[in-house]
Amino acid sequence: MQSLYDFTYEQMRDLAESFGWKKFRGHQIFQWLYRERVTDFDAMTNLSKDTREILKAHYSIDPLRLVRKQVSHDGTTKFLFATEDGSLLESVMMVFDYGKSVCVSSQVGCNMGCAFCASGLTKKKRDLTSGEMVAQVLKIQRELDKTNDRLSHIVVMGTGEPFDNYENLMTFLETVNHDRGLGIGSRHITVSTCGIVPRIYDFSKAHTQYNLAISLHAPNQALRQELMPVSKAYPLDELMEAIRFYGQENNRRLTFEYILLKGVNDQPEHARQLAKLLKGLNAYVNLIPYNSVDEKQFKSVKHDEAMVFYDLLMKNHVRATIRKEHGQDIDAACGQLRINELKKGNGQ
Ligand code: SAH
Repeated sequence: MQSLYDFTYEQMRDLAESFGWKKFRGHQIFQWLYRERVTDFDAMTNLSKDTREILKAHYSIDPLRLVRKQVSHDGTTKFLFATEDGSLLESVMMVFDYGKSVCVSSQVGCNMGCAFCASGLTKKKRDLTSGEMVAQVLKIQRELDKTNDRLSHIVVMGTGEPFDNYENLMTFLETVNHDRGLGIGSRHITVSTCGIVPRIYDFSKAHTQYNLAISLHAPNQALRQELMPVSKAYPLDELMEAIRFYGQENNRRLTFEYILLKGVNDQPEHARQLAKLLKGLNAYVNLIPYNSVDEKQFKSVKHDEAMVFYDLLMKNHVRATIRKEHGQDIDAACGQLRINELKKGNGQ
């Protein structure tokens, strides 16, 4: 059954109209879903019983079920959810000094096949609907409601490639960003892509104020295509051209993610190549400690080795930070919780 979370505010008003009701009914339903955050049609007390019955016959509310939750000593909380068709997906809540952030998955499994990533260990089963993305945020927000707390940031960095599910991604973002939805500011929302070039153009032209992060992980084409097969379809020079276009269209800083993989992309020459590649861009590099994945042979660098790389970037006038690690005591790597559940023979 389709979830009401699939509808943006405007679509909800149109939906009401399509049933022959006033558009205002759509507004009321939206209030119940996002202000009151109810999960039961009968709680929508300003709708008539008939209206509620019609809605119930056609739609569900929450399309996800909580399967497992893991809490780290640093507050990082991983949620394993199941969809109505038995697919498993993961979301993570992280605690920062600036607020609480949720990491949202965009697909069940992933087809991008990055050499170091746990998410790609299982092929994409399907795209998540926008409602299933909305539900990840809402379910976690509902937990925080118990202590009058709220999510302030969203990153689309969970399992899946968001730009391989572009329409649903944009619908989801509209709802969580909307004043009458969750009202999370666009500057507090970040979408991360491995570099699907045509969608970077679409995203640039959409002129939203969401942040864009590019998973770069290598400063030259030869190494990048070894680590990230997507780079065969969309080579580094085309990616950089798309990024420059984004920069022209949107006056926003761009984040580049760079996992430091020991002995692979962490040498001084890589830092210098990276600085050259990013010259003239309003760029910022997030150096990411690698979360080891059982099935992969890659190793993370130590903090002092990361500092050497960082210093070289600074010397070459590239702004960078070393990302703090979160949830080290729980299955921290992206997609790991789901993989471990699949190994037990549960879900798909
Ligand atoms: N497909 C999108 C978003 C999901 S991956 C993308 O590629 O950006 C989110 C980020 O986590 C990416 O930068 C990805 O390369 C990184 N990542 C994947 N596996 C990781 C691991 N084991 N340790 C650290 N970062 C990882």
